[in-house]
Amino acid sequence: MAGLAGVGLSWGSSTPSLVPPTSTKPSRAGRRVSIAVRNAISVEGKSYTLQKSEEIFNAAKELMPGGVNSPVRAFKSVGGQPIVFDSVKGSHMWDVDGNEYIDYVGSWGPAIIGHADDKVNAALIEALKKGTSFGAPCVLENVLAEMVISAVPSIEMVRFVNSGTEACMGVLRLARAFTGRPKIIKFEGCYHGHADPYLVKAGSGVATLGLPDSPGVPKGATIDTLTSPYNDLETIESLFDAHKGEIAAVILEPVVGNAGFITPKPDFLSGLREITKQDGALLIFDEVMTGFRLAYGGAQEYFGITPDLTTLGKVIGGGLPVGAYGGRKDIMQMVAPAGPMYQAGTLSGNPLAMTAGIHTLRRLMEPGSYDYLEKISSDLVNGILDAGKRAGHEMCGGSIRGMFGFFFTEGPVYNFQDAKMSDTAKFARFYRGMLEEGVYLAPSQFEAGFTSLAHTSKDIEQTVEAAERVFRRI
Ligand code: PMP
Repeated sequence: MAGLAGVGLSWGSSTPSLVPPTSTKPSRAGRRVSIAVRNAISVEGKSYTLQKSEEIFNAAKELMPGGVNSPVRAFKSVGGQPIVFDSVKGSHMWDVDGNEYIDYVGSWGPAIIGHADDKVNAALIEALKKGTSFGAPCVLENVLAEMVISAVPSIEMVRFVNSGTEACMGVLRLARAFTGRPKIIKFEGCYHGHADPYLVKAGSGVATLGLPDSPGVPKGATIDTLTSPYNDLETIESLFDAHKGEIAAVILEPVVGNAGFITPKPDFLSGLREITKQDGALLIFDEVMTGFRLAYGGAQEYFGITPDLTTLGKVIGGGLPVGAYGGRKDIMQMVAPAGPMYQAGTLSGNPLAMTAGIHTLRRLMEPGSYDYLEKISSDLVNGILDAGKRAGHEMCGGSIRGMFGFFFTEGPVYNFQDAKMSDTAKFARFYRGMLEEGVYLAPSQFEAGFTSLAHTSKDIEQTVEAAERVFRRI
């Protein structure tokens, strides 16, 4: 493993170019900066570079496919190289070169109370003293399970797993086991993790043909996956007509985050509830992203529509790897060992992950949390949209509580097709500009943004001011 020293994981003297980050962290947020040379940023006469980031990432590319452990971290659609981070706190992140950013990715969702919260950290240190994994029941599982069950309207019983992908895999098997039916309907642009049956998009005009999105996914794995445009009840009705008694479940993101931020039309969720109920199919809300983010009880509480089953992830792990699926007790009783549907996990429900989840949810339960998220997200998005429009850009966007997004198109955006009207080249220019200004957004037009309880109105002001400057020059 000699190569590891070379990537600067220990800031050894043998790698003189990889000196440790300066202890005083320069605050670039909100200041005018410009890229002087490739990956060297100059701010008010001072020079900040991304040199260490670049060196570490170049080494990473030899060690891991694409240099990352999850493709969303790569900067493929915005250009340039991913930034390598050193630390996070509250609403801010610091890279290995010592540059500071206001963060709107929030580790892709978990950091809803802010990064590295003091109380969560203190609880984790205490939990750590008792061990990291028991591989046997622990009382913390009961605590988090009770919290989840009392918060999320559809969940009467829950199973913890280690990721959103696992939760979505489990829930699919469960829906099929419970109904005895093979098919599922998913929506174009919705992501439910990387399990084979979900890696499907429908080409235009072949809405009912389950063709795999990725090599390695056999046709057999996706043959029972039907797809529909989001917000399109007519297609759903025709799929149910064409496949009577065969559809186990409809699964969706109740607010889409994986095709950019897209909200359901007023009758969409209630329509799905009605159609699935009539047919005897199950309705599954994938709330891996929206759970505890749109409301303490998730999108289902926010919109007042109760699905049969729900998947969770991200927030409920407070930054540690946790996913969950849950729902009606009669359905959940099918899960092994209570019932015959097999699903298991070595590290599932481990005490560290449960601890981070419990303390994150406790913070969210405090009065005013969601009003606060609502205010800062809408101030942020309205500020960005106003600034963009003033600078002559066609834009649309919106927010709900801790989730937001915007597109470079006039809109409205009701589905993935509409989202693809966005000027992604302009988004990439905007993205790079914001990065130079010290604002870290998700590196893709087709990802939602996240705010947290740690974001301040100063963060929002600085971000909007930065956006104003960037809009003028893109
Ligand atoms: N479902 C949704 C709605 C998601 O947003 C994600 C991840 N972004 C997943 C499932 C998969 O979760 P994980 O990355 O934890 O496997």
